[in-house]
Parts: sequence; structure tokens; C-alpha cells
Amino acid sequence: MTYPSIAHLHSALRAGETTCIQLVEEALQRAAENSDLNIFIELFPESARAKAQEVDAKLQSGQAGPLAGVVMALKDNLCYTGHGVSASSNMLRGFEAQFSATVVEKLLAADAIILGRTGCDEFAMGSSNETSAYGPVKNPVEPALTPGGSSGGSAAAVAADICHASLGSDTGGSIRQPAAFTGIYGVKPTYGRVSRHGVIAYASSFDQVGPFAKCLDDLALITEVISGGDDYDTTCSDREVPQMAPAPADRPMSFGYYREVIENEALDPAIRAHFDEAVAKLQAAGHTVKALDFPYLDALVAIYYILTTAEASSNLARYDGILIGHRSEHFEDLESLYKLSRSEGFGKEVQRRILLGTFVLSAGYFDAFYGKAQKARRVVRDATLSALSEVDALIGPTTPHTAFPLGQEYTDPTVLYLEDIFTVQAPIAGIPAVSIPAGPHPNGLPFGMQIMTGPFDEPKLFQAARVLDQL
Ligand code: GLN
Repeated sequence: MTYPSIAHLHSALRAGETTCIQLVEEALQRAAENSDLNIFIELFPESARAKAQEVDAKLQSGQAGPLAGVVMALKDNLCYTGHGVSASSNMLRGFEAQFSATVVEKLLAADAIILGRTGCDEFAMGSSNETSAYGPVKNPVEPALTPGGSSGGSAAAVAADICHASLGSDTGGSIRQPAAFTGIYGVKPTYGRVSRHGVIAYASSFDQVGPFAKCLDDLALITEVISGGDDYDTTCSDREVPQMAPAPADRPMSFGYYREVIENEALDPAIRAHFDEAVAKLQAAGHTVKALDFPYLDALVAIYYILTTAEASSNLARYDGILIGHRSEHFEDLESLYKLSRSEGFGKEVQRRILLGTFVLSAGYFDAFYGKAQKARRVVRDATLSALSEVDALIGPTTPHTAFPLGQEYTDPTVLYLEDIFTVQAPIAGIPAVSIPAGPHPNGLPFGMQIMTGPFDEPKLFQAARVLDQL
């Protein structure tokens, strides 16, 4: 049995209609029935059952946490002590986490149950799940399609109703795009809202962990649970975590959208029509909607790929085959040990990004690429914050179109990079962004609407999302 929300799940637990152990057994069974979707790299039946027993006992004594009995999955870049974690890379095949990520500690302290780890693009680099060393996850809505990336497995685990919710990570859209492609909710919190300790790094000034869920209330609750300062992550803010559950909108809100996004030729006409309709409905309900200009849209993908590959080339330098990572058996000396270990351990896309990042950081090119992209990032952040000083929230489609077939776009990396055009603004600016399900499209598939607010304004983010969700 699956439940539409954590509130429903909790009333079933309270009424004695189910138990945590029963929920885990059912989830394991659904995972087995859906094994052809290739969602899980590994299930954790033993620790999930043990946690379920512990939470059942706590429920008896009235001491269970806010996520009691919520069966969740982790993206394969989140460390859970004593369990495998690999960033879906051959570089870390067989690696076991030595400690738990702060977000994992927080989930367990809130009495969530962790069912397993899900497939993602290798080191979270990708938009289609196809760079995973374990093969792509398939979209539960239509298995010939991508579930999106990089957190495609975590989205699919929820969309296939195996888990109640899950965690992913978002650097340039990796939570919001898979949420849109699979018809569920996903949020990237403000940079610094959630600890990155124990998250396998891709681009440290962009990476942020966030949940996938089946409704907004669950999404807000899980975000609240994983938020908060952390001594292990100096970029994580100590500011107080507000209550995030979306209150009903008690006043008209103001929304803005960018003309450059809505009039973009890459945008699917049916998604545009849906958006125009949403704007009309918002206005009819008494909210204001303003068209704004954003002349930087075409620069976003370039800024994103220069800065993230630079950071990735530095973060991934640690995988040397000596201290950490796959070690080649064919080396002859130290140099060939490094070269072979890294060539064998990393897939093509990760290698491409390390090379790109090394290039933009290299003497002679640094100012022209990395330095300039940093300045451009500031311009985008300032322009975004200025737009957000005029309106409560920015709205638009999460992606230009619905999920595409597996294998279709991967042959040309630059085509795939353009998939991120609407999602990279939020992490460039460091602001929160949520994707809520919309559609269906005339082709029968789900897509997403994206909402962005100012930094650390998750309560307003979820409230604006509720307004749109109720249309
Ligand atoms: N698709 C983007 C990329 O390939 C986003 C990835 C992410 O958010 N982790 O970098």
C-alpha cells in the first residue's frame, strides 16, 4: 500500500493499519517488481528492516520523529556509513562510506527509513542518467524515455511508488529536471541551507541536496528536516530554519516571468500554452503577474559549464588510485599509475569535464574564461535578486520539453548541455527553486513548472508553489 502524503501515512500508522516493517517489506517487493527500470544500484534490506523495527517501537511509546516510517532512497552520491556509495562511477565501485552525510544523519534522526541507493549520472554530471557506469535508469512513466538526470534514480524511485520520498542533489538542475520528467515534486534549496558534508562533490559552490516527494507538504517537511547549520560544512548557514510547510496564501502574491524564457524557440509550444493559461488563471485569482526582461539567458549555460567544470577538475583530483579510487593493474611507474587509474576509473563525460575545467583554469586562459565567468555569475546574481525585489517569485517552465528517448541526445554533449537552460539560473544565483508537476502534455507526458524566490526564502517558495499547484 502506498500513501499520497506523509500525513496519510502517519494516520495509517496511528490507526494500526500498517507498521514500519510492513512498509519496508512492501517497498522491497515493489523494488523487485520494478527491477527492469534499473533504479537501485543497491538495496539496504538489513538496515532498513532494523530501522523499521526501531521506529515501530518508538511509535508504540509515542517517541517517533517527524519522518517516522517514511521509506526513502538516497542518490548514489550521499554517504551512509557502512553502506556502499559510488557516484555511479567505476572509480568508486566497491567503495564503502566511512561516515554518514549530515543529511543522512538528519533523516535517520527524524526516523526515516533508508531503502537503498539509486543510480545517477556519473559524479552527478549529466541530464539523462546515461553517464552512469551502471547503465541508465528508465523513466517509470515510459521506460523508453530518460527519467532525467543526474538524480534520475531518486526521482524514479518515487514516481514508480517504490519509496515515499527520496534525496537527490542539484548542481544545475539535477533534482528539478528529473522531477519534471517523472511528474513529481523536487526542490533545490538555497545554497548554504543544507549541509554538503558527506556528499560526493561535483561543483562545491553549486551543489545542494534536496528532496523528491509526491506532494508539496512532504517536500517542505523533508527540506525542513535536512536544513540547518553544520560544523562540518563552513558554507552551510547557521541561520534559524523556519517552518516551511506552505500556509494557504492569505494575500495575493506577485509573480514574474522572463520574456526570454517564455518566447524562447527551444520551448515546446504546448508547454508555453500551458504556461500562458497558468498566468491567466493566476491573474483571475487576484495575483499579479509581470513580464520581466532577462538579457543573460543565453550566457547562463556557458557560465555554468565553465565554473562547474573548473570546480570539478579540482574536486576530482583526489581520485588518484593511490589514496582513493580505482587503481589500475597495468601501471609501470607513478605517472602511468595516475594516468591509467584515472582513464579506467572515469567515464568519458567526467573526463571531458575534468579536461575542460583544467583548461579554463590554466595559466593564459584563466582570466578569459574562469575569471570572466565569475564576474558574469555576479552580474546574473545581481540581476536575479533585483527581479526578486520586484516580485515574490519568478515562474517558468522547468525544462524546454518533456522527457526525451534514452540514447537520443547523448551523442552530442553540447545539445545535452542546453537541456539545462532554465534550471542553471538558480544555482548560479544561489537561490532556491522548486519544480512542481504540470501537464499532461498532449503527448501524454508530465512536465514541470519552476518557481524561484530570494535566498533563504523557502517558506515563500513553498507558498508560491502552493498557489500554482492549486490552479
Ligand atoms: N545537467 C547538469 C550537468 O550536467 C546538472 C547536473 C546536476 O545538477 N548535478 O551538469
